[in-house]
Amino acid sequence: MVTSSDARPALRGTPVVPGIAYGPALLVRNEISPDAIAQYDGAFADTDDALAAYEEAAQAVADGFVRKASGVSGAAAQVLTASAGLARDKGLRNAVRKQLRAGDDLLAAVHGAVEQFVTIFSNMGGLMAERVTDLLDIERRLVAHLVGEPEPGVGMPEAPCVLVAEDLAPSDTAGLDPRLVLALVTERGGPTSHTAIIARQLGIPCVVGVVEAMTVAAGTLLLVDGVGGTVELDPDAADAQRRVAADAEQRKAFSSWSGPGATADGVPVKILANVADAESARSASGAPVQGVGLFRTELCFLNRKEEPSVEEQAGIYGEVLAAFGDSRYVVVRTLDAGSDKPVAFATHEGEENPALGVRGLRLSFDNPGLMDRQLDAVAAASEQTGTETWVMAPMVATVAEATEFAEKVHRRGLKAGVMVEVPSAALLAHRMLEAVDFLSIGTNDLTQYTMAADRMATDLAHLTDPWQPAVLQLVAITAEAGRQAGKPVGVCGEAAADPLLACVLVGMGITSLSMAAAAVRPVGARLASVTMDACEEAAEAALSAADPAGARDAVRALLVR
Ligand code: PEP
Ligand code: MG
Repeated sequence: MVTSSDARPALRGTPVVPGIAYGPALLVRNEISPDAIAQYDGAFADTDDALAAYEEAAQAVADGFVRKASGVSGAAAQVLTASAGLARDKGLRNAVRKQLRAGDDLLAAVHGAVEQFVTIFSNMGGLMAERVTDLLDIERRLVAHLVGEPEPGVGMPEAPCVLVAEDLAPSDTAGLDPRLVLALVTERGGPTSHTAIIARQLGIPCVVGVVEAMTVAAGTLLLVDGVGGTVELDPDAADAQRRVAADAEQRKAFSSWSGPGATADGVPVKILANVADAESARSASGAPVQGVGLFRTELCFLNRKEEPSVEEQAGIYGEVLAAFGDSRYVVVRTLDAGSDKPVAFATHEGEENPALGVRGLRLSFDNPGLMDRQLDAVAAASEQTGTETWVMAPMVATVAEATEFAEKVHRRGLKAGVMVEVPSAALLAHRMLEAVDFLSIGTNDLTQYTMAADRMATDLAHLTDPWQPAVLQLVAITAEAGRQAGKPVGVCGEAAADPLLACVLVGMGITSLSMAAAAVRPVGARLASVTMDACEEAAEAALSAADPAGARDAVRALLVR
């Protein structure tokens, strides 16, 4: 716990969505009453009867997810629909039946079956490991139905509140109403957790990794600062309301930012969008962006068992390019399959440590045709749409990889770049730039690999933080290499979506920032409010700070008036 300026107690965490909010704490508890569980009579005539009770509960849980999904859209709806599918999953049902046949009562059978799936998902790592939270959420809901208790998690708050939780299940965050949920505070979770992604999409101020959050008494008035990462308990009411009003005014002003990206003194910085498919590209094309800085092509194929033909791929990429055919440009990233993004036709199975395994560009080591066909498809889409197309490869670790990739891309008449996600690429950025036309820093992976901390690990939020001075040092080295070579160096990881960090990156020499469309206006407006000199000063302050909290404080003091 830290002490705020007026000596009131404040908790501290990792700020992930900017904004100030003030309201009573609503604690989200995930446990089901132990009494209800103890009193549960799990006696059934036979295994079939017990299984029928399970199926009824599973259907009720799935129906609940479907109902919630129908009230939301985009990523939130996808998360809920996926949870509904998992609740009805046949494999899970079969595992329950097996446990029942082995003599377990129904609650033990459900627990045993979920445990088996948790182990399988955890061993797969990455995105699949993240689904463990969904599984445990489903187990709690199943048990609640079986013992006749209401489902745990976030109910519909009746009045505006600050939600405080150990961690929020995706199904909880997906149905949130920003008019009633003023802010989110969680004990666990990092900048790339589900909670953070959904909060960003909804524009709800959010602080994660607040270690003592659940010690706050229900109803305590909290002042949440999504920029500074603090949660003040029972602050002075007039002061809190003044800060909330000032923040609301600033957010309103920021929401009218219309581009193009530049600092207050007119240094241009390209503000770009991250997209996943044609739908997100069309929606992002309406934002004040100069193009797409990251098209994650692998996300088009998460459900595909077979590699699509070159023609089919060209059609898919063409739809994204066409959305930016009005003299803007699109940076297409070649397949980043593997690890947290499993793609059936490309991912190597059974790796001990998929994040350090054959992912991204490495997939072409034993399957060069995969990349060749994708590049043919991108070139065809570029030709058909006439949209300026740049192509970059993920997970590049050596200059030789960059050189070989650039040759393939140049042969097809397109601009070639590589992502800087591995520390070796940052350290050799100057040599990478001899081969390629541009670099794009993936701060999500660069942070993971620099800090040796799984980007999905909810307990390591303080390490998987792009404000870590070591990560910033590598960004600075890369940006400086770009400056010397006179070639563009962008950032397309989540760091670019943090308005203050974005200014720091620009101060280091970063020339473009690519982010989820929801972050475009806050970032563009913040950048437009500071001079390049101030950005450079902020970069120096962040680089010399001892830790992320110190870096944030120093930068905020310099840039926020
Ligand atoms: C990154 O690693 O920062 C990045 C942009 O790539 P992804 O998040 O898709 O791994
Ligand atoms: Mg990455």
